[in-house]
Amino acid sequence: MNKVQNITVLGATGTIGVNTLDVIARHPQRFRAYALTANSRFEPLLEQCRRFRPRYAVLLDVLAAEQLESGLRAQGLEDTEVLCGLDALERVSAHPEVDTVMAAIVGAAGLQPSLAAASSGKKVLLANKETLVMSGGLFMQAVRQGEATLLPIDSEHNAIFQCLPRDFASLEPSGVTKILLTASGGPFRKFTQEQLAHVTPQQALNHPNWVMGPKITIDSATLMNKGLEVIEAHWLFGAAPEQIEVVIHPQSVIHSMVQYNDGSVLAELGNPDMRTPIAHALGWPERLASGVAPLDIFATGQLDFERPDTARFPCLRLAFEVLEKGGTAPATLNAANEIAVQAFLDNGLAFVDIPRLIERVLEEIGTHPVHSLEDVVKADTLARLTAQDWLERKTAC
Ligand code: NAD
Ligand code: MG
Repeated sequence: MNKVQNITVLGATGTIGVNTLDVIARHPQRFRAYALTANSRFEPLLEQCRRFRPRYAVLLDVLAAEQLESGLRAQGLEDTEVLCGLDALERVSAHPEVDTVMAAIVGAAGLQPSLAAASSGKKVLLANKETLVMSGGLFMQAVRQGEATLLPIDSEHNAIFQCLPRDFASLEPSGVTKILLTASGGPFRKFTQEQLAHVTPQQALNHPNWVMGPKITIDSATLMNKGLEVIEAHWLFGAAPEQIEVVIHPQSVIHSMVQYNDGSVLAELGNPDMRTPIAHALGWPERLASGVAPLDIFATGQLDFERPDTARFPCLRLAFEVLEKGGTAPATLNAANEIAVQAFLDNGLAFVDIPRLIERVLEEIGTHPVHSLEDVVKADTLARLTAQDWLERKTAC
């Protein structure tokens, strides 16, 4: 029998983290939650510690870590050691006793821990697409040098991975001509420009098919999520921008497709539930029960496909543009987007101003080559400052 796999779940209290623990709990003979991490809310992490008894629990925030420590002791839970800070996140990602790391922190904050997991040769289940957007070249190099196994969790990329040959190395030798990346189109697919100008965060947070954290839900509404996924597909599968086509598929039943040179198009279908890609990656190369209901193909009925409209959703165009530019441009786009999304959620920026702000920042700070992680971090910091500055000037007018 296989030994029990020790898993670190980065971002354990988020949507992906909770779904990962749901799958882990279904297979206690195969997986152990070894380290669980979160940002600053200690209560949900305390509850997870009570249930999963991890070796480590990590909070980024020092005060929250102290509260977690007191909570654990009050409940007599002595087996979990509490750590805090970015160093600790990296430590539990690279720990020698850890086999697998679920990288599910949201945003740029996930970069360093994901890199630590890759460099130390873990099985890396990558949900944090921002890592690949910001530093795809460096991350893929860390995977190769660390001899890590990289498995995509994003449902589209997981679907593509499933539709590629087992010995896949690059597109042409496998006969792949195109990757068809599906997108639901989000809640505003049919909105006019005029209607888009007035949408609220509440409306944008109401995704038609998927339950996700707030940042990725807004990204889905602007189509920036699809833009980030185009860049993610570029790095994961070595696809040039013209080999990636975005297809709006409102039912979210087909999670993406791969087109081959003989005319075949392979697709992965299923209910929109992240436990499918999570179980696929956790069990890979074997299959595991995930708790997801089987797809009722008769109830599904119709499958529709449309071309995306980048005039109404310019974020998708911007993502293709930064992919062509390369260097620090994708990191700049990512950072400006994080600031813009937060401002929109705080009612400080209109929905249609999200792409405008990102475009401004891209124009203002230009693109530089990436030689090291420092170059990426610098671009990220500068983009955040520039975006904040633009927001402040805008409110002052
Ligand atoms: P979420 O907001 O629900 O959860 C985020 C998690 O990250 C939480 O545990 C939070 O505590 C932690 N976190 C936040 N900021 C942090 C920081 N500065 N330092 C350390 N930890 C921090 O997000 P989510 O929807 O679970 O998404 C997580 C990642 O997975 C994102 O990169 C997202 O793009 C990707 N993803 C999510 C889905 C989905 O269905 N939710 C699908 C595909 C990809
Ligand atoms: Mg996705």
